[in-house]
Amino acid sequence: MAFEILKIVLAVLGGLALVYIGLRVLRFVGQKPPDPPPPGSLRKVKLKYLCTICSTELEVKMAPVEDPDPPKHCGEEMNLQAPIDD
Ligand SMILES: [Zn+2]
Repeated sequence: MAFEILKIVLAVLGGLALVYIGLRVLRFVGQKPPDPPPPGSLRKVKLKYLCTICSTELEVKMAPVEDPDPPKHCGEEMNLQAPIDD
């Protein structure tokens, strides 16, 4: 009897977890991209990022802030390499 109740509780918890994950995915997919920054507000930066999964390198030359969030590649945030000095 206790085993049956445990199975029901686990099934309900599993269902709730699936609903929660589904809602998170829908919220992520439904997000609007941020508005473009006003003209003239971009800063010159020289940042180099590396994807730890596929080794793609990316250089960021302009950003709305001096220390922007790292871009994502292969679904993961890219690693900031040392800033490029002239
Ligand atoms: Zn990648």
